[in-house]
Amino acid sequence: MTHQFPSLSPEQKKELSDIAQRIVAPGKGILAADESTGTMGKRLQKINVENNEENRRCFRDLLFSTDPSISNSVGGVIFFHETLYQKSDSGKLFPQVVKQKGIVVGIKVDKGTASLNGTDGETTTQGLDGLLERCAQYKKDGCDFAKWRCVLKISNGCPSALAIAENANVLARYASICQQTGLVPIVEPEILPDGDHDLQRCQYVTEKVLAAVYKALSDHHVYLEGTLLKPNMVTAGHSCSKKYTPQEVAMATVTALRRTVPAAVPGICFLSGGQSEEEASLNLNAINQVPIPRPWKLTFSYGRALQASALAAWQGKAANKAAAQEAFCTRAKINGLASKGEYKPTGSADQASMQSLYTASYVY
Ligand code: 13P
Repeated sequence: MTHQFPSLSPEQKKELSDIAQRIVAPGKGILAADESTGTMGKRLQKINVENNEENRRCFRDLLFSTDPSISNSVGGVIFFHETLYQKSDSGKLFPQVVKQKGIVVGIKVDKGTASLNGTDGETTTQGLDGLLERCAQYKKDGCDFAKWRCVLKISNGCPSALAIAENANVLARYASICQQTGLVPIVEPEILPDGDHDLQRCQYVTEKVLAAVYKALSDHHVYLEGTLLKPNMVTAGHSCSKKYTPQEVAMATVTALRRTVPAAVPGICFLSGGQSEEEASLNLNAINQVPIPRPWKLTFSYGRALQASALAAWQGKAANKAAAQEAFCTRAKINGLASKGEYKPTGSADQASMQSLYTASYVY
C-alpha cells in the first residue's frame, strides 16, 4: 500500500509545521478567547455587565491591547467569528493588533454540538458543510490556525463506541479540510470533568478516545506535524470524593498521552476545563516536571483559567482596564513558566485565582 495521492505539497507542509511550532515555541501557549456570544453572556452576567457587542469588544480589546511582553508567554489567540472583524479602541482590526505582537491568530470554526440520537445524551460536533470555503476566507482574513471542539462524557455507559468513533472521524475530517487551506487544526476531543469517576477511569477513557482520534487522523491522511492537540488533563471527576495531587494528575496525564499521541505532533495544549486558575497552572507545571520523556511541547490553551481574574478585576469599568490587564499578564506569565516546569508558587495566590471555574455540562 503506497501513498499514491499525496494530499499536501512540501511547501504546504512546511508552512503548517512552521505555524504550529511558532504557536508552541518554548514558554508559550494559547489564549482561548473564542467564547460564543452566549457563553460570553454568562461570563459578563457574573460581573453584571450587559451582553452586547460593544461590551464583548471592550473586554477583548483589554486582552489584546495588553503590554507587548505578553507575547513571551502567548503564542496564539483563538478568536470567535464576531471578534475577528471588530476593531480595537485605536481603530485597528483585532487580528492586526494581535499579529503586531508576533502572536498567531486562530479561529473557532465548529458550529457547536448536536445530539446523537439513541445515546445517553452524547453529542457530535457540527460545521463541516461549507467548511473549506469558510477556512479559505479566514486564511485570507489573517488566520493561521483553527479550533474545533468535540465533547465526550464519562458515565456508566459513556462514552459509547458510537460517540468515540463519530467524534474521532469528524475531528479528522475537519483537520484535513483545515490543512488544505493552510490553517493548522487544533484537534480538541474534550472529555468533560462531570461525574464522580476516579483518576484511573479518566485515564482509561482518555487513552481510548485519543487512540481513536489518532487512528482517524491517519485514515484521513492528516499531516501530524502541522496539527496541535487540545485535550483535557487526566483528572478525577468533579464530584469524586478522592482528591489527587498535581503530581498524580501529571503522571496519569503524561502516561495517557505517551500511550496514544505520536511524537510527530509538535504540541499538546491543554484546556482548563473548569479548574481554578491556580490549579490549572500547578497541574501544567507538574506535567512538565514528570520524570519520563515527553516528545511534544506540553502547554496551555486556556479560556476560563486565563481570563477569570481579569474579568473580576475589570467589572465592565474603563477605570479598571489597567488592573484587569495586569491580572491577565500575571496569569499568562505563570502559565508560560508552568509550560517549562519552572513555576514556583509563592503561596500568595489571591482568592480569585483559587476559585473553581467549573460549570456542569459545559457548553463553549
Ligand atoms: P477552558 O480552558 O475554559 O476549558 O476552555 C478552553 C477552550 O477553548 C474550550 O474549547
